[in-house]
Amino acid sequence: MLKLLRPTVRDLTGDLLYKVGLTRPDRGPHRLNVVTFHRVLPPAQLREYPLAAIAVSVEEFTWFVEYFAAHFTVDTFANAARRWEAGERPARPFLAITFDDGQRDNALHAVPVLERFGVPGSFFVPVQAVQENDTLWHDRLGYAAARLLQSDRDAASRVLAQLGASTSGDVAATVQAIVERAKRLAPAQRDALVASTERAAGGNARPAWDGMMNWDQLREIVARGHEVGSHSMTHQLLPQLDDEALRYEIAESRRVLEANLGCKVETFCYPNGDADERVLQAVKDAGYVRALSTRWGPNEPGASRYDVSRCDIQGATSRTRNGVLSESRLAFRLSPLQPRP
Ligand SMILES: [Zn+2]
Repeated sequence: MLKLLRPTVRDLTGDLLYKVGLTRPDRGPHRLNVVTFHRVLPPAQLREYPLAAIAVSVEEFTWFVEYFAAHFTVDTFANAARRWEAGERPARPFLAITFDDGQRDNALHAVPVLERFGVPGSFFVPVQAVQENDTLWHDRLGYAAARLLQSDRDAASRVLAQLGASTSGDVAATVQAIVERAKRLAPAQRDALVASTERAAGGNARPAWDGMMNWDQLREIVARGHEVGSHSMTHQLLPQLDDEALRYEIAESRRVLEANLGCKVETFCYPNGDADERVLQAVKDAGYVRALSTRWGPNEPGASRYDVSRCDIQGATSRTRNGVLSESRLAFRLSPLQPRP
């Protein structure tokens, strides 16, 4: 009963708050809103992609962008933040649409939708992964674990045992749990886990359609008025690294990006949102103007430039209990009234 009641109460509360105006975007013209996407995929690829929490369908994405374009002043993150810091307060508040991880689907499926609605986006790329068309560790682990869970349950159980976990029924939830646990390992242990899971799954399990954006795609994105920023070199969790490795991930990624794009790179985006004082200082020292975290919520005036918070956007959290995409649910999620996760 409670399980049925909760979504109903949640939906009704969302509707009510929206109707009386409390969660409407124009209630917060003083705020800087930043939303996060990773993957934007057509249906067949979405079904193959193992980490549902960081993927939306092209159809969902289109619905989101239409809402953003109608209710916000959408600009690149660098431009929106600069205008907002200068005191500009448009009736429709500032919002930046950001993409982490530099995946090819961004150029193929997200950019055309943004341009249809006449709004720019900001794309944060792991630079070495772009250069080598590498698969990021969480995708390598996700694809391999999903293949194992579907084909060889015993081998999957052994992988999970290494992490002190057991297989629960649902493949998607189990893969997500494996990736979350792997984040807590030291880099060398995590690399070993990724390698052994891939070996057990019969090699790199990334499908042929998947991959990173290349330099030509990134230069084209910049030429069309979007922003490209750094998401480190290799998407390591930065607080775990020594000073030299940290400098490589932060300063070197900016140098290589600027050399290949022929423009200034102002924004850094912490992989997995992980940063501490030392990481923050390294980002400042490398000459970045601002940095994005995964801390959640809209930004109020006076917020730190190097710890800008965002709202990650998913289809599931914007749908009603009946599965319909809902403006009031999305507005609730973007508003400061939504309880923090
Ligand atoms: Zn990332």
